[in-house]
Amino acid sequence: MPKDPDCIFCKIVAGDIPACKVLEDDVCLAFMDIGPLAEGHVLIIPRDHYVTADQMPADVAGTMLSNVPRLVAAVQAATGCEGVNVLQNNGKAAHQEVGHVHFHVIPRNTGDAFHFNWPAGSYASGRMEELAEGIRKNLS
Ligand code: AMP
Ligand code: ZN
Repeated sequence: MPKDPDCIFCKIVAGDIPACKVLEDDVCLAFMDIGPLAEGHVLIIPRDHYVTADQMPADVAGTMLSNVPRLVAAVQAATGCEGVNVLQNNGKAAHQEVGHVHFHVIPRNTGDAFHFNWPAGSYASGRMEELAEGIRKNLS
């Protein structure tokens, strides 16, 4: 059971610091984000300590993520929001601040304060296929 005594989310799992929980099972825990991007913002985390998504065993990820559909539905029903973002940040460059893997479930409404900068680009000829081949080779 990987744990990190200095990790704030491990402390929540252990019950050493409080959290406003909405769901728990043997593998994961979901609770209200204390710095919500919108009211009803929830985090879902594995009980065990993995820093980033790539470190999670597939069965842990599978069990945890099987809760996402009903969590999204419950957040939507409770808040009356128009849409929901499910986001997950890996590494500082990707805006990860807490080093215990977590998925954000964020209620969204047209014109709300949360904005993406989504600078969609394009590929030079052949580059997309080259990268796809690299990704395929690295899947394990
Ligand atoms: P990230 O930038 O993806 O690492 O997001 C970390 C999230 O954890 C932020 O949205 C914080 O508001 C949230 N957070 C940090 N500490 C706590 C806590 N003790 N209870 C609930 N949410 C927290
Ligand atoms: Zn942890």
